[in-house]
Amino acid sequence: MSEPGSPQLVAVAVETPQHAGLANTLDYTCEQSLAPGTLVRVPLGKRQVAGIVWERKAAPITEGVELRATSQVMRAIPPLSAPWRQLVAFAAGYYQRGLGELALAVLPPELRRLDAAQLDRRVVRLAKPSAAPSAEPLVPTLTVAQAQAAAVLSAAPAATTLLHGVTGSGKTEVYLQAAAQALAAGRQVLVLVPEINLTPQLEARLAARFAGHWLVSLHSGLTPAQRLKHWLAAHCGQADVVLGTRLAVFASMPRLGLIVVDEEHDPSFKQQEGARYSARDLAVYRGRLENIAVLLGSATPSLETWQRAEQGAYQRLVLPERVGGGALPRVRVVDMNALARNPGPQDAISAPLLEALRLRLARGEQSLVLLNRRGYAPVLHCGACGWKSACPHCSAWRVFHKADRSLRCHHCGLADRVPRACPDCGNLDIHALGRGTERLEEHLAGLLPGSRVLRIDADSTRLKGALEAQLGAVHAGEVDVLVGTQMVAKGHDFRHVTLVAAVNPDSALFASDFRAPERLFALLMQAAGRAGRDAAQGAASEMWVQTWHPRHPLFAALARHDFGAFAASQLREREGAGLPPFASLALLRAEARQASTAADFLHAAAELAAGLPESAGVMVYPPVPPPIARVASVERMQMLVESRSRTALQRLLAAWVPGLTPLGKQKAHRVLRWAVDVDPLAI
Ligand code: ADP
Ligand code: ZN
Ligand code: ZN
Repeated sequence: MSEPGSPQLVAVAVETPQHAGLANTLDYTCEQSLAPGTLVRVPLGKRQVAGIVWERKAAPITEGVELRATSQVMRAIPPLSAPWRQLVAFAAGYYQRGLGELALAVLPPELRRLDAAQLDRRVVRLAKPSAAPSAEPLVPTLTVAQAQAAAVLSAAPAATTLLHGVTGSGKTEVYLQAAAQALAAGRQVLVLVPEINLTPQLEARLAARFAGHWLVSLHSGLTPAQRLKHWLAAHCGQADVVLGTRLAVFASMPRLGLIVVDEEHDPSFKQQEGARYSARDLAVYRGRLENIAVLLGSATPSLETWQRAEQGAYQRLVLPERVGGGALPRVRVVDMNALARNPGPQDAISAPLLEALRLRLARGEQSLVLLNRRGYAPVLHCGACGWKSACPHCSAWRVFHKADRSLRCHHCGLADRVPRACPDCGNLDIHALGRGTERLEEHLAGLLPGSRVLRIDADSTRLKGALEAQLGAVHAGEVDVLVGTQMVAKGHDFRHVTLVAAVNPDSALFASDFRAPERLFALLMQAAGRAGRDAAQGAASEMWVQTWHPRHPLFAALARHDFGAFAASQLREREGAGLPPFASLALLRAEARQASTAADFLHAAAELAAGLPESAGVMVYPPVPPPIARVASVERMQMLVESRSRTALQRLLAAWVPGLTPLGKQKAHRVLRWAVDVDPLAI
């Protein structure tokens, strides 16, 4: 041991570039002993960077080895806790990223930038907003099902629980009950939501219910200063409730007592770049680590979560009915085969659906028409020579947008004016094939003269504040027919919508992605949940589905609002096919100028894996191009790695991935980028 007063040695996590091949932590000396978790600034090359003391090193400092010293210690804030460091270390290992890279990446960017003096000032300014005049919050009398759920939760303060209940069944009220109990015990509460902008109602309800507590949000839409302030408030234990998106699963909360994951099935919980972590899965891990309750809520749980509840690994609570007895909308499946007098995809709206829309219009009620494809038409086509509006840089068509008369690639962003004539043969008669939301909007306005049709999608909401304004118009009753993508199916509480229609959901039934049916079912259930939220109208509300495959089991289960039946049939299929949750998957992706370079890299990687003893029990499949292989002139290839055992897969990844860095640098297969995606959402 070193003498008191003599320099100490610490291992510090710093942000090093991805796959740089540097050790997980770097050693520095410091004047006095620093506790693990302490934030420091250290020299790295010619720069000063933020770092986190990961551990003290007992080893005496070897003579002759020139170690650099930490330059600053951020004394204004307490060290990051042991469970926080354990969570980060687990995530880095599980998702195959550098420890320092992940640990620093999940801190607010501002915290990494500031020096000790600047941080001091921020912490001093950190003041809890004065509590709102505490009128007693209005707490409804719980329904029997809610009361039962709340009782079970309070009896099991460290369990992971699936709260399964249709939209409007009162799940949020159960979250609030559990949160109130944690707060009363002096604990902090973390609430994770898929997208913060889509859930302003939840924030308002939390704020109203817990007026005496400090509620902060954590998401990427905050300014850097706000994000730092909110993070500090949580870290210093001053904020009691943190509401955030996936990145908030890493919020440092010293008194954490409950994690709620709302809409736990939502794909937004999976990070799609850098460390590709699942915030839902990490929330469950964190719950175990900190010995606290985790509450996963959904009307359509992910099959992974459902399976764990079936096996008894998670406790399951069910809210079987809508609060106030509001009936779920009646599902009407329109058989497009039977109706096709003049068949063809041009019949976007079938006659019975049109009749139903007219009826709503006459009654002054709102309708929501869903189409998951934006733009006017997905492709332009020349009948004379066969030209189509391909993107020169991607293996995809460019989409026709009528509003600004552009042809836009949704993958690389390339946009041009629509040509007047066919670029290949000069034919003036080029036409739009298929239908996007823009065209559907136009079509509906023609079919329903005098009605107010509004479209909400990524195009209509590009400008700041546009989404809020458009949603406001719907809530204010200034819209009769709302046309939109999945964007409008989530979260919103549209009181006056009594009809929801999915006009063309079929493509998801036969998509190559094995999770497409699961996502379609969730989307349709969610959309159905938009209708009839007012109990008074509930009896009359309807969900319409136009399909060429009316006998598909997915629609049969939807018609009965029977998630269990759908899940059971999907799980049987997954088990037969050896897919999650019955197998664990990872994808190795590679990008290069030439597809062959990417493939060569993956082949070499497969060879490397085959030579490792850890590859026993793990299947490495041949490289294949993803559905859209070329984006922005970069060719992409991917290779599936699969095992019945998660442990076996993890063991192989740990032995294999470090060797990929040197491989990717070899001349023969020098790829632009490669990445490992553990538990990928799509394959
Ligand atoms: P979910 O989160 O499952 O969609 P909510 O918790 O938002 O359901 O409840 C749906 C509606 O019912 C909300 O307007 C909510 O205020 C109301 N509500 C919830 N629980 C009760 C209750 N016990 N009594 C009366 N109204 C309730
Ligand atoms: Zn042509
Ligand atoms: Zn493109």
